[in-house]
Amino acid sequence: MNSNRIPNSKGETCIICDMEKNAGIHLYTSFICVDCEKEMTRTKPSDPKYSYFLEKLRRIKNPPLYS
Ligand SMILES: [Zn+2]
Repeated sequence: MNSNRIPNSKGETCIICDMEKNAGIHLYTSFICVDCEKEMTRTKPSDPKYSYFLEKLRRIKNPPLYS
């Protein structure tokens, strides 16, 4: 086997907590770990954390433009 793909044991960087996790979901081109995903589904709109998550998620839908 001659593969250029290096196994990424650290996983992917979660856009919410900025931690490298193995398990999570992909949303568009971004990665959200299972912990944050669960946290988000638990968070009510009245929770201050909710707007924090929304702010993070906004990055996904409006990715920075590269010139
Ligand atoms: Zn996370």
